[in-house]
Amino acid sequence: MALTDTTRPSTLTAILRGARGRCPRCGHGQLLHHYLKMVDRCSVCGEPYGHYRTDDAAPWLTIVIVGHITVPLIYLCETNFQPPLALAFAIYLPLVAGLTLLLLPRCKGAMAAVLWAMKAEGSEKI
Ligand SMILES: [Zn+2]
Repeated sequence: MALTDTTRPSTLTAILRGARGRCPRCGHGQLLHHYLKMVDRCSVCGEPYGHYRTDDAAPWLTIVIVGHITVPLIYLCETNFQPPLALAFAIYLPLVAGLTLLLLPRCKGAMAAVLWAMKAEGSEKI
């Protein structure tokens, strides 16, 4: 399926598709494989993605989101319940690690979609 520039989706649509791990252009092909590795090309529309480098943007966005979710929860828990240290670590560490592992590929897809939507391809074209 060949898409022309007239069928290019809006930036928000592209970001939402990227956050779901789908091709920002067509929304059907995979954007990531092996957890965080960008595909060279969309298997459906053929859009090239292998040259996009999100660098530290995806971890940064993940830290921002995870921090804004967990810090208020931990603060509320600590101020209201004051759990023992071992119990607090048993709750907080899996929460933070789990959210981070869950959100990191979504953030990478969203950031790659932002780069794609802004045509910020860098100098590493394939
Ligand atoms: Zn595609």
